[in-house]
Amino acid sequence: MRSLLRADINVCELGYHWVDTDHGVASALHWGKSPEDRYGMLFGVEMSEDPDASYDHGDAGRWRSYDPFSEKRGLFLIFAELEPTREAIIEFASRYGCPASLRYLSNWQREILYLASAVEVWTAIQTKDEETLARHVSWDEVQRDLGLGPGFPSPLQTTIDSHEMLPVVCVGVGDFPPPDLIAPAEYLLDNTLAKKVKWQGVDTVPVRINGHLTFRVEFHDLLDVMWMQLATAISESQEFRQCKLCEDPFQLSPDVNRADRVFCSDTCRVKSYERRQAKARKMRAAGAHLREIVKAVESNMKTVKRWLGEDK
Ligand SMILES: [Zn+2]
Repeated sequence: MRSLLRADINVCELGYHWVDTDHGVASALHWGKSPEDRYGMLFGVEMSEDPDASYDHGDAGRWRSYDPFSEKRGLFLIFAELEPTREAIIEFASRYGCPASLRYLSNWQREILYLASAVEVWTAIQTKDEETLARHVSWDEVQRDLGLGPGFPSPLQTTIDSHEMLPVVCVGVGDFPPPDLIAPAEYLLDNTLAKKVKWQGVDTVPVRINGHLTFRVEFHDLLDVMWMQLATAISESQEFRQCKLCEDPFQLSPDVNRADRVFCSDTCRVKSYERRQAKARKMRAAGAHLREIVKAVESNMKTVKRWLGEDK
């Protein structure tokens, strides 16, 4: 049965800021540039300083919403590569939103590590990178068990072990005899996804497409969206490429995109075209030779002449 993944993620247009709580022990991410923004935007309704308080999104004009499943399919890769610093996290939240499940700095750091580890294991399985896989999977010599639980080096193991998640996964060495690292790595990845891809808080809405029943699955939390994106990428063997302009990853798909596609979107394609034109004009005004300009803007003589109005 086909299902359609949808999400409606809100991003505060004023940006986000950190508020130190518990005497500086924990830092929580809030929307708005400062605490004052939060009072100002909510029709005079005062917000609690408690970072766990639930938020009313208030003035709709200060929020924009988007669907990462259609607009940013590679968002999970951006998150996985995010530096776990306050500054980088604010930058991410300002562009893509703050998951309702992530408020504290330590939560962000932990989740970035989990998703980054999962992406690393997935990539290492595809490229048969044994050195990387060996950092996530190891055999316990004493117990003769394959350990995917605590005491083993992968950060993913804590996702399996943590009290909020699966019990410790230790499987008999007979299930995954050494030295094959691929099968146990897949097992580790699958068990991590089993815990992290959440269906709670997700709405399923029946829809008919050309008379056929399908379900629209609506996600509301950005973290759930990103784990689902990873699961989908793994199950569909999706490939991603970095946009030549904005450097965000975008999905390469032979039936949707041309194989030589270098931009993530029409916006980036048009912007890049305009920038190259502007660069050509600027270089020409500064006395550059046509040949030099053609090389600099990665185009051809005919196009550059047309841009400069010298084709007549
Ligand atoms: Zn782009």
